[in-house]
Amino acid sequence: MSLIERFIRYVKIDTQSDADSNSVPSTSKQFDLLNLLKQELIDLGVKEIRLDATGNLYATIPANIQKNSPSIGLMAHVDTASEMSGKNVKPNVVKNYDGKVIPLNEQLQVYLDPKVFPSLKKHKGKTLVTTDGTTLLGADDKAGIAIIMSFVEALKDHPEIKHGPIQIGFTSDEEIGRGVVHFDPKLFKADFAYTLDGGPIGEINYENFNASSAVVTVQGKAIHPGSAKNQMINSQTIAAAFHLALPKDLKPETTDGYEGFIHLTQSIGGVEKSELRYIIRHHDIKELKKQEKMMTDLMNAMNKNLKQKLIHIEIKPSYFNMAPEIKKKPEGLNRALKAYQNLGVNVKAVPIRGGTDGANLTYKGVPTPNLATGGENYHGKYEFLVVEDAEFMVKVLTEIVRIKV
Ligand SMILES: [Zn+2]
Repeated sequence: MSLIERFIRYVKIDTQSDADSNSVPSTSKQFDLLNLLKQELIDLGVKEIRLDATGNLYATIPANIQKNSPSIGLMAHVDTASEMSGKNVKPNVVKNYDGKVIPLNEQLQVYLDPKVFPSLKKHKGKTLVTTDGTTLLGADDKAGIAIIMSFVEALKDHPEIKHGPIQIGFTSDEEIGRGVVHFDPKLFKADFAYTLDGGPIGEINYENFNASSAVVTVQGKAIHPGSAKNQMINSQTIAAAFHLALPKDLKPETTDGYEGFIHLTQSIGGVEKSELRYIIRHHDIKELKKQEKMMTDLMNAMNKNLKQKLIHIEIKPSYFNMAPEIKKKPEGLNRALKAYQNLGVNVKAVPIRGGTDGANLTYKGVPTPNLATGGENYHGKYEFLVVEDAEFMVKVLTEIVRIKV
């Protein structure tokens, strides 16, 4: 089966995860794809497969040469993002793309326009898979799955490619941050791994944010407004003052690259009590700590001014930048860089402004940088996949695992 056939088959299956659900996995429909992948692996002759009740699929392709070599893991997630529906995805194939505007949906006036998405111009002459303008596509991360499955098929068809043990891991609930909560590195058995969950080819990611969350609660004093003079404390006024006192240049909308931020995600409350929910991010853990301290210093200063401890902050770590761990055990990263070099493609390390399953897995002991898939504009109706680029990633994987004899 060709990669594009696989990809189209996978995106037609609705696998959206749900942050509001406490089930594991969050939606049972993720098993629709997991079960299909299990069957496809069986059909491809893979013998060691385990699909568990938490929505993790593990498979092993044994070494086909007697030589000491590391066990290499490949991962992708089956779920799609919550921003947009992944139901009734009707993929549209654009062959030999002419570099012009692609009408996704004339009726709804949705267009994929190179003026808005300049990277499109680079894909002239290639095959693109787009949406019909009403759903997301699900290249994130079904492109990763299609690449891994095509790679498994390539190894079966080409026994002359000699390799060590290869571990496959398909996970669920990545988009809601629970991707590797129930994923067991002991069952995965990889010395190092790669997530295939990135964007355009030519990019590799092994740096992500350090992340924490802060909940600021403000205690007020609710009194009937008619008799409130010198009595009422409106917690919302204090909460607003707290937020406005934070640095304006430390916001998601004013930062990029390696710059961190403090982001107010939600504010709720009334006169009596208010709550501000923040996420705090920085690639450098020392800078993250500084940002946390900035918030507690502000709390202390304001409480002093108020002459009572009305403001309280609770800060919790969420996840960490994998870079320091990858640098300690760089074999996987180095192999990927070498593979690209062998294939004559310049690859650039791009810091992720978020977290990855690989980062969490890295802290579970399996260094896991992130590789490209050839997909772009994730999580929305403008998402598309460049088929030739996804096919190129099958070659990259082959080059990564290949043992020269
Ligand atoms: Zn993803």
